[in-house]
Amino acid sequence: MAKSIMHSKDDRTCYLCMLLRDDYSARVDLQEHHAMPGTANRRLSEHYGLKVYLCVEHHLVGPEAVHNNKRLLRLLQANAQIAFERRYSHEKWMEVFGRNFI
Ligand SMILES: [Zn+2]
Ligand SMILES: [Zn+2]
Repeated sequence: MAKSIMHSKDDRTCYLCMLLRDDYSARVDLQEHHAMPGTANRRLSEHYGLKVYLCVEHHLVGPEAVHNNKRLLRLLQANAQIAFERRYSHEKWMEVFGRNFI
């Protein structure tokens, strides 16, 4: 499994608790989320480390969960693209994912 290039697993934080609430506390309910949805893109997300760790409330359950909230899903896609392009290039992003989210 590739290491995430978006978020470190080691400090046990939730990516969206940090981003939306300035909450850097360690969580016990973290789940791995691949930033690019869809079967093929999920595999590519894994390959390139485009994944974050989320608390249950920000992953699957409730109005601020990425799987229920288009705006937050989109935010993670944009942040994945930024992290990817910092490491590779915009051309490579378009070649691999074929769509601009920024
Ligand atoms: Zn959270
Ligand atoms: Zn997910």
